[in-house]
Amino acid sequence: MSLREQLCAYGRRAVELGLVIGTSGNLSVRDGERVVVTPSGVALDRLTPEQCPVVDLDGYLLEGDLLPSSETPMHLAIYRATGAQAVVHTHSVFSTVVATTMTELPPVHYNALLLGGVVKVAEYATYGTDELAANVRAALEGKRAALMANHGGVTVGATLEEAFEATRLLEWLCEVYVRGLSVGTPTVLTEEQLAAVVERAVNPPEFPRR
Ligand SMILES: [Zn+2]
Repeated sequence: MSLREQLCAYGRRAVELGLVIGTSGNLSVRDGERVVVTPSGVALDRLTPEQCPVVDLDGYLLEGDLLPSSETPMHLAIYRATGAQAVVHTHSVFSTVVATTMTELPPVHYNALLLGGVVKVAEYATYGTDELAANVRAALEGKRAALMANHGGVTVGATLEEAFEATRLLEWLCEVYVRGLSVGTPTVLTEEQLAAVVERAVNPPEFPRR
């Protein structure tokens, strides 16, 4: 599957899973010094491969008739600062709920480690601006995910699939936390408990054969 086809496939999936409504999300994937990105103003479940623009890392349009997503500066800032190969940004409900009410998502489930532990909420700035891009880049440092104050969530990966799955996990973690708050006070895992999870993952149990 070409990178453009991948963008369309994951765009459709994002809409099917309810992570994105219409145009309220954008995806990109890096191809060396070029970045293929979803266009502005096209619903992600109606996207066709030839509609996806290609830009360079400085934001110059290389290919495509449509304008790149308005959040392209954020995607490019992430590529310039990290080794990420793909970026997914959505306004999914529970991620946005946490991003509008908190300054970070505490690790209440050990799977948070897959995103780097605590997920930080990047300070608010107007969408599409370099200021927002810088805030997100700072919140993402050493992590696979960040939330964006009063806006949504963003995840990165070595592939589009990885970034997409990180977005699903981020949304799930936010949902668990928000639903947990409606039942009681979610217990936050301690540093020690999280370290023990890492230790367990590094040294899994053996199953000797008889
Ligand atoms: Zn957005």
